[in-house]
Amino acid sequence: MSEIRTSLDERLEEIETALLDMAEEVAVRIGEVTSALLEGDVNAADELIRSDDDMDLASMQVAENCIDTIVREAPVAGDLRLVLSAMHLNSEIERSGDLTTNIAKAIGRLQGARTDERVRDLIVQMSVQAQLLFRRAAESFANRDAELAESIDELDDVLDDLHVRYIQTVIQDARRGTLEPQQSLQLALVGRFYERIGDHAENIGERVRYIITGWLPEAQAAERARERHVAVSPVDEPLRNRGIAVIESIAENRRIDVIRRDFVANVSHELKTPIAAMSLLAETLAGEDDPEDRNRLADMLHRESKRVEAIIDDLLELSRLDESDGDFAPVSIDEIVSRSIDSTRSFADANRIELATVGVPSGITITGDRRQLVRAITNLLDNAIRYSDPDTRVSLAVDDLDDTVDISVRDSGIGIPRPDLERIFERFYRVDRARSRETGGTGLGLSIVRHVVGKHGGKVVVESKPGQGSIFSMRIPKQRVGD
Ligand code: ADP
Repeated sequence: MSEIRTSLDERLEEIETALLDMAEEVAVRIGEVTSALLEGDVNAADELIRSDDDMDLASMQVAENCIDTIVREAPVAGDLRLVLSAMHLNSEIERSGDLTTNIAKAIGRLQGARTDERVRDLIVQMSVQAQLLFRRAAESFANRDAELAESIDELDDVLDDLHVRYIQTVIQDARRGTLEPQQSLQLALVGRFYERIGDHAENIGERVRYIITGWLPEAQAAERARERHVAVSPVDEPLRNRGIAVIESIAENRRIDVIRRDFVANVSHELKTPIAAMSLLAETLAGEDDPEDRNRLADMLHRESKRVEAIIDDLLELSRLDESDGDFAPVSIDEIVSRSIDSTRSFADANRIELATVGVPSGITITGDRRQLVRAITNLLDNAIRYSDPDTRVSLAVDDLDDTVDISVRDSGIGIPRPDLERIFERFYRVDRARSRETGGTGLGLSIVRHVVGKHGGKVVVESKPGQGSIFSMRIPKQRVGD
């Protein structure tokens, strides 16, 4: 028995040392990639991209070692928790490594960008903060220090603030014309990469808390697996249960990884088209003398940049929804309805659509996040207008039911074929890509609606007939669950 113990201890130590080395490696890379970025040093960036393979290899070895340890040593309780956490930490560290590689990739594209002192200074500050966060996360893991892990959240807030200032500065420069649109988008992404490193550090902190207190998802997954297992078999088989819990946790992580990868691929694809168009338009514009053509090209350029802005805006909204619970307070339905109508009025006018409200009972209040609700209703109205023909009507109705309020938007537009109904809430799913694009859709509107309604404990119901129109209803409980 004592021999097995020693072997387990040795393996755990090995895993831990490898993880700490990798974490330090990422922290160093953050510094290096930032210097390369500020100096526009493409060679150094290439070198960093190449060294990414070593990192991948190291991470694969850690993962294999973890799985091997689970299989061979059958660790229990705290030790199992440690190995599971090590697997998560490993992927968090590896993903942060990917982010630095992405920064390195951006360097070539940014060459010649006339970034000003404020942008550069904010990049340095974000990099220092990201390094600090990462080192703090590794230290809290090495020492199993819950307080250090706790302090990561505060450091991350600082990074978030820096990121917001950075984005504002980049946008200002883009508006002033000191930055090319394409370069400003690259810079915006670079800032986002630094910010995401903070997210990974935060996850590591959360894992450390899990090692110490054991309250995170695996514990719950293990508990659920145990309950399920007990339900089918009265005989308690702890070893098998443990196996199920481990596999469930790995499978869940894989699933999340795949969703993430698909999502990133989709985002890149969605942004690539308008950006390519913008670069082409800008080039043509530069060589065009005729004032009328110049105006036309400038208009097109403006439209494409609006598209990029809309996608980024929706992506930020989705990530805000992912990250925060929202600002719940009593909200007046009259107010959110009139705000939503106000913000879509000009879009309706431009498309010759009559916008009407029907039977909105006054004086109803629900517990909700005002901003999120206005956003969701606006998205539904926008869609109803976008997918209707001119000279038709879009109406918004409110039904005051016992426990819920139904807010529905009806149009007599193109409708949605039945097989697509289940998929329209997926990110970037569109029935007709061209129509969505032409009319300024991002493919994210309905996923925002579903997210918002979900946060409010409600559901979205849709009825639609091709050629006749659609009704989207948000059914929201008046009181928040638990109030
Ligand atoms: P988009 O920005 O493309 O409108 P959404 O997520 O808001 O993205 O909607 C997804 C897809 O669902 C749309 O591309 C469109 O095909 C379909 N859709 C949404 N609302 C309506 C509607 N009121 N009428 C017809 N089709 C709609």
